[in-house]
Amino acid sequence: MKKIAIAIDGPGGAGKSTISKAVAKRLGIIYVDTGALYRTVGYYARENGLSVEDAKVSDKMSPLLPNISIEIEYVEGTQHVILNGEDLGDKIREPDISMYASAVSSVPCVRAFLLAAQKDLAAKNSVIMDGRDIGTVILPEAEVKVFMTATNEARAERRYKELMAKGVKANFEDVLRELIERDTADSTRAAAPLKPAHDAIIFDNSEYDFDGSVEYIIKIVYEKTGVKASEE
Ligand code: C5P
Repeated sequence: MKKIAIAIDGPGGAGKSTISKAVAKRLGIIYVDTGALYRTVGYYARENGLSVEDAKVSDKMSPLLPNISIEIEYVEGTQHVILNGEDLGDKIREPDISMYASAVSSVPCVRAFLLAAQKDLAAKNSVIMDGRDIGTVILPEAEVKVFMTATNEARAERRYKELMAKGVKANFEDVLRELIERDTADSTRAAAPLKPAHDAIIFDNSEYDFDGSVEYIIKIVYEKTGVKASEE
């Protein structure tokens, strides 16, 4: 199969990761969750006593970066992020870490720190990569670019169910408020803000179910690259 790159951007809770994971499996390519990298740096900032406000400050973050070693490993198709030798697993999925991830992601030296690892994965493998700046900054040459979105309520509902399924305590109103807060911060920051690439297909999946969303992406991939997915 020829090497391809698929960039999936969009706000939190739009279904980027679950849909991308399924598409990756059907195409036999790697799924790269770039949010996990920012979450890992956010986790490290919290472990080192920084407040969320501190984690937005370049002078607070830059001294930490030389002490951070992040490795990305794939075990049976699932991405694992290893921070200084420790597989963090679901520790990076806590709602608190989402806010830290958003904070550190606004700092240009953090983005620069994580840039090479992301580009490198796409240089060596066929990937479907999700994030906020994949189509605009990381893989501007990607053959397929999708900006995946849904209404605030649909996104909060999905995120809420995801947390419940994982046994993480949450309340719907808090999930909705935090999603909106994070999207506003992500879209208005100066460094690589969340926005569709000029050549991205906008996919509002509020009215799509999971299977429908997967088929939608697979169809676009076929149209743009000629690469066919396997049957389920
Ligand atoms: O996708 P996820 O919710 O795990 O991302 C966590 C945070 O990391 C986002 O709110 C965003 O601030 C940041 N992020 C980013 N650029 C990416 C991926 C994530 O700024 N490519």
